Amino acid sequence: MWLVPKDTTGRTARHPIPDSLKQGLIRWYTGKGSEADHRASVSLVVTARENHKWIACDCRPANDPPALLSPAYLSFQETYYLRRLTSRPQHKRNCPFYMPQAPQRLRETTKDALYEVNPPKGLFLAHQKAPEKLAQKPLDTDPDDRSRGVAIPRLARLLWQLVEAAQTNVIRALPPSGRAEHSISAEMARLRKASHDFQIAPGIALSDHIYTTAIDFEKKRTHARLRAAAETWPEDYAPQAFLLLEANEISSSEIVTGLGTIEIRNRIQHTGIIRAEVQPPFLVLAVVGEHSKREGYRALRAYAQPVLSGNEFIPTDREDDRSLLRTLQATQSMLHSGGIKLAIKKLVFDIQTKQGSVRPDFMLAFHDTETGAEGYAAVQVLRSHDPNYLQLRQLEYERLIAAWPTISLALEHFDANLIAEEIASILEQRKGGGDA
Ligand SMILES: [Zn+2]
Repeated sequence: MWLVPKDTTGRTARHPIPDSLKQGLIRWYTGKGSEADHRASVSLVVTARENHKWIACDCRPANDPPALLSPAYLSFQETYYLRRLTSRPQHKRNCPFYMPQAPQRLRETTKDALYEVNPPKGLFLAHQKAPEKLAQKPLDTDPDDRSRGVAIPRLARLLWQLVEAAQTNVIRALPPSGRAEHSISAEMARLRKASHDFQIAPGIALSDHIYTTAIDFEKKRTHARLRAAAETWPEDYAPQAFLLLEANEISSSEIVTGLGTIEIRNRIQHTGIIRAEVQPPFLVLAVVGEHSKREGYRALRAYAQPVLSGNEFIPTDREDDRSLLRTLQATQSMLHSGGIKLAIKKLVFDIQTKQGSVRPDFMLAFHDTETGAEGYAAVQVLRSHDPNYLQLRQLEYERLIAAWPTISLALEHFDANLIAEEIASILEQRKGGGDA
């Protein structure tokens, strides 16, 4: 098998695919693959797609034009797969690619890889010393099975970990009177406070090398402080600092903030599913380090996370997440006038339950100030009517409902009144049935 330029007959500019990878690809295509086959295959398909390649099969005689496979992405299932190009020469009948690709299996083991997105392990670290970089796979990305092989940048995991620790992914219950106050400085203060609990190298707190405005970087204060710290930095670790910025615009390699623009050495990363779909603002985490002695300290890489607004740093993966959160805030106001407090959380990592790992779209916590009843509910939003998609979400629903009361709604039925009624009814049951 070969990678070949797309839109060609597949007879020229061939790049051979190693046999071991081909065997893994066949197992994956026919629905028999292991997790490792799945990862290797998705990585091949993603690489082919990004480099405008097709895959030419070797089942036909050497002098014939080959049968071709095109790497494809099914957006509503967040799945990569191989599409046969049926207007081209056919695969031999006994070729594993003669038939369409088998549907990808639901992975129902206890250590479930279907939804799982875990926090990164170890240090808050996004830049390694050069020799290590050569010896092992770079830290840039980890496979993300939530989106079936879309790689999650390491910086994304680190940012989410910080967000989770700072709880900026929570819309807190409204104060007893008046409106909720939001400000960028309050959000940044929460994140800064959380940064004391992370280490970027043994003995070095993230809080010592994190900056929340572009000015510190532009004035080279970031650099000076890092240079001074580098003298005593633990030997096996690369000195690094982090910029945590609210951006009203990003280009492929520039972060535009209200207080200046920062150029990133590499292309700014996003999660695959949201590319080009979600509008600003963003919360951006960038790592500053030394790529080479000659270049000195530079902002090397960055991850841009869309957030609800410039002063509410709740991660939003899709454009409709913002309107869903606004709807939940409307629910919050409605319940508030009836004496029910509601807090809303957007999850950034999975929750482990007895049924396996799950990640509802939102978790709600509520408390009736009059009766004292309180409870939780998971919220699941169904964004497509595709049968395969609904089957996956049904599996998720069964896990959710085993753990919490669960409100499952199609996107078009997501309504503040409806959710308020559901919550009131859960509280009513709590009151009647005692504590649960
Ligand atoms: Zn073939």
